[in-house]
Amino acid sequence: MSSPEVTSFTELALAAPVQKAIEAVGYEQPSPIQAASIPHLLNGDDLLGVAQTGTGKTAAFALPLLSKIELKSKTPQVLVLAPTRELAIQVAEAFQTYASKMKGFHVLPIYGGQDMSGQLRQLKRGVHVVVGTPGRVMDHLRRKTLDLSGLKSLVLDEADEMLRMGFIDDVEWILEHTPSERQVALFSATMPKPIRKVADRYLKNPKEVRIASDTSTAPHIEQFYLMVGGFERKLDAITRILEAQDFDAMIIFVRTKTATAELAEKLEARGYSASALNGDMNQALRERTINRLKKNQLDIIVATDVAARGIDVQRVSHVLNFDIPYDSEAYVHRIGRTGRAGRSGKAILFVAPREKRLLHTIEKATRQAITPMELPSGSEVSNKRIQQFKQLLTDTMEGQNLDFFNNVLAEYSTEHNRSAEEIASALAYLLQKERPLQVKDAPRKKKRDDSPRGGNREDSPRKKKRDDSPRGENREDSSRKKKRDDSPREDSSRGKKPRDHKENTDKPFDSKPTKHGKKTDVPMSCYRLEVGRNDDVKPGDIVGAIANEAGIDSHHIGHIKLHDDHTTVDLPAGMPEELMQHLQNVRVCNRPLKIKPNGKATPPLKAKNKKLKKAKPSAKSTGDTEGSKAKKARKRKAN
Ligand code: AMP
Repeated sequence: MSSPEVTSFTELALAAPVQKAIEAVGYEQPSPIQAASIPHLLNGDDLLGVAQTGTGKTAAFALPLLSKIELKSKTPQVLVLAPTRELAIQVAEAFQTYASKMKGFHVLPIYGGQDMSGQLRQLKRGVHVVVGTPGRVMDHLRRKTLDLSGLKSLVLDEADEMLRMGFIDDVEWILEHTPSERQVALFSATMPKPIRKVADRYLKNPKEVRIASDTSTAPHIEQFYLMVGGFERKLDAITRILEAQDFDAMIIFVRTKTATAELAEKLEARGYSASALNGDMNQALRERTINRLKKNQLDIIVATDVAARGIDVQRVSHVLNFDIPYDSEAYVHRIGRTGRAGRSGKAILFVAPREKRLLHTIEKATRQAITPMELPSGSEVSNKRIQQFKQLLTDTMEGQNLDFFNNVLAEYSTEHNRSAEEIASALAYLLQKERPLQVKDAPRKKKRDDSPRGGNREDSPRKKKRDDSPRGENREDSSRKKKRDDSPREDSSRGKKPRDHKENTDKPFDSKPTKHGKKTDVPMSCYRLEVGRNDDVKPGDIVGAIANEAGIDSHHIGHIKLHDDHTTVDLPAGMPEELMQHLQNVRVCNRPLKIKPNGKATPPLKAKNKKLKKAKPSAKSTGDTEGSKAKKARKRKAN
């Protein structure tokens, strides 16, 4: 590796819009293959890169080549050859992401099986980068529909795969039909003889970059890997692991700053004390976070490699590699955060099917096998929960004076002729209803991102998807965004009916997206309700009560924030006075809502919006009990 000292993208002479795009994607520092390749490619040198998927090799060529694109010129300046249509699409998506700040930039993936006329139209319109499978690129060259006269750079991606799939002659044919002055970058996970021959023949004084890898790991760290890909599936997996494994403190490694925040937020929402640690945080804040971990005030840190460098906290019992590290050196460094001071530690590595090769490289380099592990099963999680539940009972019986409850329940038992077990079961149900003791295994769905990476030849009927970024990054981002949009406003969406078209037409408000991704075009205002966490209220109760008692479509009920003694909720601004009056006395968890505008709310309208007027307050709701519909909504949620 030639430039191991490069630790920041700003040290590389990438074009400003490319730097901006990297910042937007959230990459903190170049991966080793990037640090080594980018200067050579910017310099115009030919390059031989020994790197596999997962090392960041796509950005290693895309970033420098994009930096040299002349947007004004509309003939292809860069051609990337990829073995499969999936890879072609994903590389094209990566270019698009890294060129997000280059106005007027066009990249076109071309592959067999795709409608030719669309490709022709796009080629005519002008593209800067073409990413294609060899067969289809040859097709276009023969038909003279692809003009490579202005080609500046050619990339052979996954060259050994192209060889394995029998494309090597096609690749050579294409190489011979490109201008002699073009720059060539050849990336391959392995360097079999025929690839070496191609390199010798077509590359001029190539710079060779490969990832040095000979590192050993501490023997007292148990190492496991789990095959899982895609943000959502990894999130599910991590949730199970956290439940099933006894851990003291954990460091979770991800690749981007954005992912640190995103994952920490998701874990917090699941009840763990987790915090992000990334290069955007200043030194003082980082130290504070690490100190909180030391002092048991925090159990999980979600970090990037840069930010976690040198963390030495003895109670870290687990390291979880949510995203696979780029190389074995990074792996060794990461897992070395556990097993400190002679203690034992566990390291878990998530490997997406297409990253298998990188796993083997790590094993080879560390000279240690990494043990495959299964996702903890539903019954393992159940056992754990039951164990905790029993412990809670023991602790409560040992630590609390329960005389009062003994009397109440003895009285109940006599009055209702119920056994102590029956009563205890009912109470246990109530206690655990949000976190059932029985966890079932969800039926395994075959997901796109589950499928093993592999040769989906142009002519092969097998369809395989890779799940990576920035391609994957984008996909993950969008699924994450979707999740966030769908996700509870501390879950106020529960018990909500799916919205259908008809429903839209006769509800008080029409639609436009809000920040939750829900639809409404009514201006929203914040209201305060006099019921809070201390009353054991759940967002679903609030939604149920307001939706049913005020006749407001739950889609128009916005963010709900529970405080100890009150709750704030976003509702359509200018609610008619009668409705406000009515909601004053609606009871939730046996407390009247006493709704009032919170802060700078729009003053209520006098029944301006007729549809907002509550038709008939239900008799029950005005009394001492909650409205029956609200109760039903609650029940629905509980089930
Ligand atoms: P690749 O080896 O090109 O398939 O890339 C593997 C993954 O690493 C992709 O998800 C990229 O988005 C991600 N990646 C590439 N470079 C970086 C970087 N410098 N920092 C963080 N993630 C990166």
